[in-house]
Amino acid sequence: MSEIVRTAIVTGGSRGIGRAVCVALAGLGMNVVVNYAGSANAAQETVELCKEKGACAIAVQADVSTDEGTTALFDAAIKEFGRVDVLVNNAGITRDNLMMRISEEDFDAVINTNLKGAFLCAKKASRLMMKQRYGRIISISSVVGVRGNAGQANYAASKAGLIGMTKSLAKELGSRGVTANAVAPGFIDTDMTRALTDTVKESILSQIPMGSFGKPEDIGAAVAFLASEQAGYITGQVLCVDGGMAM
Ligand code: NDP
Repeated sequence: MSEIVRTAIVTGGSRGIGRAVCVALAGLGMNVVVNYAGSANAAQETVELCKEKGACAIAVQADVSTDEGTTALFDAAIKEFGRVDVLVNNAGITRDNLMMRISEEDFDAVINTNLKGAFLCAKKASRLMMKQRYGRIISISSVVGVRGNAGQANYAASKAGLIGMTKSLAKELGSRGVTANAVAPGFIDTDMTRALTDTVKESILSQIPMGSFGKPEDIGAAVAFLASEQAGYITGQVLCVDGGMAM
């Protein structure tokens, strides 16, 4: 019997952490569906990087915060590769402000992309994965979801929500061979963190025992492990990849 080639959907795979996750999964020989919201060229670059690893990959534009978007994403994955074995809920945004200044619109935007998007994808993935009796659902949370952060109540709520959802999914799906885990990055050098001021960056750096910021590849490696066949007995966990920041 020929070995099954696993297929992974990575939301927000065009840039930063999502791109590193796509490349790491391609390195494991998986087919990769690179989702993006608006950066078509960047998503295509990720596809090329996956192909350089010898994997098959496609880019799919879809807004994960909508049911239509996530339906189109899963339809495209099934049409191209016939199955979905790994889902990485990575797409995320920030709209930082102090609690008393967060508008309802900015609260909703962050929750809808970061948490509802993961819900819509995990719901579709779990149906397919339960039937297959195999699956890996990995959600990118944050150190901020574990510890909270002044100025990020909306973002922290979305990231803490992902942890609660992950543990619930782990309990629902464990008996069907489907694992659900979260990865909680600390400060990783991407477009999202490049927007922060030097003063904020210095203050964060002083809280990191390892004394340096992380790279997207650090998260890619952790996700690839949790997505692998070998991680089949790990579920409901939050793996902090943060240089010791959340301790
Ligand atoms: P970036 O801002 O660099 O990239 C965000 C990605 O999400 C892009 O690919 C973007 O697509 C995609 N995206 C945004 N909104 C949507 C949407 N509605 N539908 C589909 N895709 C969308 O972020 P990072 O790489 O830094 O972060 C990735 C994840 O890691 C996020 O969930 C973030 O919260 C989390 N994280 C990051 C940390 C860090 O230090 N960087 C720390 C902790 C967690 P497009 O390019 O098309 O806009």
